[in-house]
Amino acid sequence: KASRQLAKKKKGSNNFNKQKFVVAKIHEKIANSRKDFTHKMTSKLINENQVIGIESLKVKNMVKNRMLSKHIHDANFGEIVRQLEYKADWYGRTVSAISQWFPSSKMCSNCGEMYSGKWSLAIRTLSCECGITHDRDQNAATNIHTESLRLLVT
Ligand SMILES: [Zn+2]
Repeated sequence: KASRQLAKKKKGSNNFNKQKFVVAKIHEKIANSRKDFTHKMTSKLINENQVIGIESLKVKNMVKNRMLSKHIHDANFGEIVRQLEYKADWYGRTVSAISQWFPSSKMCSNCGEMYSGKWSLAIRTLSCECGITHDRDQNAATNIHTESLRLLVT
């Protein structure tokens, strides 16, 4: 709303400059609360878990995907990974990053069946022949969990 109001002001006018300051303050507030949230979340993950498995997604490639880029920028994914890694170092935890080629969302976490074709992001659940209906994210998370632990023992 503040940005929209700024757009209505005459560039260089006193009101424009005042409104520009208001917009900058809001941006700063958002950035700070996001930073605060990220730190709290990564600290909690490190405190509560001995091992954290992550999927080493190519963040740059995903940011090119317009549909995903907004969410990833909002979540500040690269910064989350960076914090997890140094906090794991501090507290003696392990971060296990699985390969970006690992088919975390294309495999049934129950029977190992591979789903062929494109599983569009709009499809949130999938029923496998083994009788299980998966939530897309839950299935991927289970696969990442199993794979990240497998990497640690081999
Ligand atoms: Zn299955």
